[in-house]
Parts: sequence; structure tokens; C-alpha cells
Amino acid sequence: CGIIGHVGDGDALETLLTGLENLEYRGYDSAGVAVQNGSGIAVQKRSGKVDELKDAVSDVSLEGDVGIGHTRWSTHGPPTDENAHPHTDCTKDVAVVHNGIIENYAELKAWLRDRGHEFTSDTDTEVIPHLIQYYLDDGMTDEAAFRRAIDELEGSYAVAAMLSGEHVLYAARKGSPLVVGIEDEEFFLASDVPAFLEYTDSVVYLEDGDVVVVDGDGVEFTDLDGDPITREPETVDWDP
Ligand code: GLU
Repeated sequence: CGIIGHVGDGDALETLLTGLENLEYRGYDSAGVAVQNGSGIAVQKRSGKVDELKDAVSDVSLEGDVGIGHTRWSTHGPPTDENAHPHTDCTKDVAVVHNGIIENYAELKAWLRDRGHEFTSDTDTEVIPHLIQYYLDDGMTDEAAFRRAIDELEGSYAVAAMLSGEHVLYAARKGSPLVVGIEDEEFFLASDVPAFLEYTDSVVYLEDGDVVVVDGDGVEFTDLDGDPITREPETVDWDP
């Protein structure tokens, strides 16, 4: 339902929680965040409101400048803590948030199970971090593994992913909106502009088939084959 991501200058958690609150108007049944906290990826997620997530994160260390957050509107699996996003692979090296529906998730899940992957949720989304992990284990680079996993998906998606130890966010869209916000050395990803409007009004609207790699220095826009494409930022002139 709602996606927010942050990389670059500034604390990720505060931006993520603000972004999730800004996206509450869309309706949702669960909320969660994942942040790089120095020793890996830390995840907190809850069914219920963003306020409940805020109570949960107040007890744990989620400091870091790279993170992703999600408000979920369940399509596959009931609104439980386990089914809330972000979802991770078995080793928690990859965290993913996703809007939309992966039509071929059952085949992908069976294929991954045959290769030793264990699942902890009922969602269609959980196949994505497992696929990325599978291709990483197969020796691919981070970006190649992300692209290959996206290439396997049928259905609609806006996806944002982060990998343990890397100050990078990967994102892709097909049939679900996704935007990038740019403010000097600070970058945002979101399903919708209001998520980050108090931080920046400089926005790139992604198109279907776009893949972006965002780190603290900039954004790389490519198509699914990895060929560079041009996407220019626009200034949004509405008030937060
Ligand atoms: N299909 C996913 C799920 O049920 C994502 C739903 C959404 O767009 O929030 O978890």
C-alpha cells in the first residue's frame, strides 16, 4: 500500500516513521520498518497502526541512515505481525517492501522451497527477498541479483530493497506508483509524493520498467536490461 525509503544524510528512522504517517490516509492494516543499524538489518513490524509500530521501535536500536518502511493493505495472508512488511530472506541479508500482487508467487515459492528456502509468512511478497538471496548465493553482484529477481516477477509491483552492509537502495516498478525525492545528499523513495514532501519538493516520477539504484551520492536510472535512461526531477508546488 505505502512505501517510504531513505538513504544519505540524516537519520532514516525518523524519516520513515514520518513518511508512514503521511501515507496513513491511503488506509492500511499493518506497518513496519527496516534500518541498517551497523551490525546488519534490523526489522520492526506490527499489525495495526503506525502508533503501535512507534511504541515497538522505541525499545530497540534502529539507528542508521539507510532504511525502508511500509504500510500494508493485505492481499495475500491476514494482517499479522509476520505478514507485515519489510520481509527478509532466511539470513536477514535482504529486506524488501512491496506494493501490488505477485501473480506467480506460488510457483516461485515452490521453486525456492525445493532449494532449501524456508518461509515465515503467507505473503506473495516474501518470495522477493528470497529470490534476491538465491541469486546472491549464486555469485551475482547485488545489482544483478536484484534485477534478476525483478525479472522473475509477474504481476504488479513497486519494490524497494536493501542489502545488509550496503548504503544503497534498489527499487523497481511495474503497475504500481513509485517516486524518488532528491534533496542535496539525501534521497527518498516513496509510493506517493506526500510521504516525503516536508523534506523535499524535488521529485522524479518513475515509469513502468524503471529500475533505480540510490546511494548517498546520487540516483542511477536504468531500464530492466540495465541500460541507462534519463529521468529529470520536477519541482512539486503543493504544500505538505
Ligand atoms: N501483496 C502484498 C501483501 O499482501 C502487498 C500488499 C500491499 O500493496 O500493501 O502483503
